[in-house]
Amino acid sequence: MNYPETEEWPATPPRYPQANTIEDFRHNLNVVQTRIADACRRVARDPANIRLLPVSKTVDEARVRLSYAAGCRLLGENKVQEAHGKWEAMADLPDLRWSVIGHLQTNKAKLVARFATEFQALDSLRVAQALDRHLQAEGRSLDVFVQVNTSGEASKYGLPPDDVQAFMRILPTFSALRVRGLMTLALLTRDALRVRACFVLLRTLRDRLRQDTPAGIEMNELSMGMSGDFEIAIEEGATVVRVGQAIYGARSLPDSHFWPAASAWN
Ligand SMILES: *Cc1c(COP(=O)(O)O)cnc(C)c1O
Repeated sequence: MNYPETEEWPATPPRYPQANTIEDFRHNLNVVQTRIADACRRVARDPANIRLLPVSKTVDEARVRLSYAAGCRLLGENKVQEAHGKWEAMADLPDLRWSVIGHLQTNKAKLVARFATEFQALDSLRVAQALDRHLQAEGRSLDVFVQVNTSGEASKYGLPPDDVQAFMRILPTFSALRVRGLMTLALLTRDALRVRACFVLLRTLRDRLRQDTPAGIEMNELSMGMSGDFEIAIEEGATVVRVGQAIYGARSLPDSHFWPAASAWN
């Protein structure tokens, strides 16, 4: 694929209106699916190979229930306590499942093992050990993505790309973890070429790791792209896009609240 020297990027970050009804959610989900389909068409990909993961962090229970009614069944949350609270509050919706997409401290692994079906931010041996131990105790297993820091200085979370291969070789030890692939957060910048470079790095790494994946490990999935940049991620091979604001509406808290290094957009 040829990369343009500059890329079109909105002059100001879009403000997403808050979704307050089932109709709002249906509308927003349609808009996002259309954007996914348009991006797929540009690079001859099949939209069926892209999973949309709605991200419901900071969204209250009432609005999460509306999004459920509009069809959302697996939701991403970046704070464990918040996710666990919502899981408990909505236990009456047995087919609503939870994906933890934010950094995990070892002492919260027990909570994740209890309720989550997916964890996308695995970046340390200690967390892998703790999760595996608690999952064994619960008789559960967990889909996991290894988080990679593709942006250098911008985030303190995620493994450096050069460390992922050695880390991957250890993961078969943890039989309750079903390793699916890699996850990243791109640089939070207005410079679309630098965003794209993060996604290219993750795909290139995945392609290299796939050559000698240990037994029991899958290295197929690429979780990359959010409300502002998921089209670029799809063009570069994303199989999961994590989309919050374009579905639920703009958050009042700036991104720097969630990722300490994120300031470029705020
Ligand atoms: C919040 C969040 C997202 C979604 O970001 P939006 O701008 O709401 O689409 C994606 N990934 C992670 C890790 C997040 O914390």
